[in-house]
Amino acid sequence: MFVWVLNCNMIATSLDVAVIRKDFPILKRKVNGYPLIYLDNAATSQTPKQVIDVIVDYYSNYNANIHRGVHALSQEATDRYEQARHKIQKHFNAAKPHEIIFTSGTTHSINLVANGFTTLLNKGDELLVSAMEHHSNIVPWQMLCERTGAILKVIPMNLEGELIMADYHSLLSPKTKLVFCNHVSNALGTINPIEEIIEAAHRVGSAVLIDGAQAAAHIKPDLRKLDVDFYTVSAHKICGPTGVGMLYGKEAWLNKLPPYQGGGEMIAEVSFEKTTYADLPHKFEAGTPNICGGIAFGAALDYMNQIGFDAIASYEHELLVYATEQLSQIKGLKIYGTAVHKTSVISFNIEGLHPYDIGTILDKLGIAVRTGHHCAQPIMDFYKIPGTVRASFSFYNTKKEIDVLVNGIKKAQSMLQ
Ligand code: PMP
Repeated sequence: MFVWVLNCNMIATSLDVAVIRKDFPILKRKVNGYPLIYLDNAATSQTPKQVIDVIVDYYSNYNANIHRGVHALSQEATDRYEQARHKIQKHFNAAKPHEIIFTSGTTHSINLVANGFTTLLNKGDELLVSAMEHHSNIVPWQMLCERTGAILKVIPMNLEGELIMADYHSLLSPKTKLVFCNHVSNALGTINPIEEIIEAAHRVGSAVLIDGAQAAAHIKPDLRKLDVDFYTVSAHKICGPTGVGMLYGKEAWLNKLPPYQGGGEMIAEVSFEKTTYADLPHKFEAGTPNICGGIAFGAALDYMNQIGFDAIASYEHELLVYATEQLSQIKGLKIYGTAVHKTSVISFNIEGLHPYDIGTILDKLGIAVRTGHHCAQPIMDFYKIPGTVRASFSFYNTKKEIDVLVNGIKKAQSMLQ
């Protein structure tokens, strides 16, 4: 049995989940003749009608290109898009709206920063990456190392899926130029001690990028208080649409980085002799952005704030504790990722069974889970496993759904063994 620690600001607030579920049209559908039980929230969350309505309203009433039109629709779309940027700024407590760069999501955000550091690194500089990263927070940095001759070093983790902080502190040195780590691991659910990571990195003069893709659905980070240099989010994991997200960067850092892509919108003046670039945030927003997506990202934050992040975290923790207890009783089931601080993600395997086979049978019962390496192959190598089954819970899931999952796993077990 594991010991769980509630964050100090988690108050035991109950959610009216029956009412909340009515906001999500997709939860009414059936899959393979069974009511859908959606437990793949870490991959993408579902979208409430409040956000769908905003998308429909955009295309029905004011679809137009932004920032460059004098006509009413263009101005309306521009206003709504920039209002969304302010909403995002406020939510994450960034100091200035232009520190929020709209991107297509976390992958785009990380590549933007990795590209920018090409001109800022020298051969032999060191970058530190945590052992539990998603591929999108590994590969762009490896590519950066190839371009610059910088060296990538790994902060190891223990069997519980927690970073070994003593090793992190000894890896840090004046050679360290960048540290990158997820706030929450997608494969294990671990909440990393990012306050300590950021503070220690800053003491040796290193910048820090935190991948917030998995955290933003459960935690409302205060970026100014964290004093983080870069933070990334994908809207589709927080009840928003796919193909949009943000890069937060401190103004000083964003001014230091060169533009990532060239094109319309990101320029001040263009001539064949010389081009100058626009100010922040436009310098990093070349081309026509995902206008509707940006506006809907703002609406998704409104929706989640209306429910309240304390209430969400408290309820999801209850689901995590219940699911862990129930799943642990299944013979041969092993959970990977038992960190003291974790979100509502359970990665597991059953002795003698392949995760893919379990996932396939669960799907036949209308239960959506994810199987495989979860874009985190180094974690699977660490545990010497090909992959896991991952059930990830959101504030619209219920204990009853967890019971159905447990019965489904037992059924899969009896069919496969
Ligand atoms: N980092 C983490 C921790 C993730 O979970 C994901 C998505 N699975 C990503 C990065 C990449 O996000 P996106 O595909 O939205 O760019």
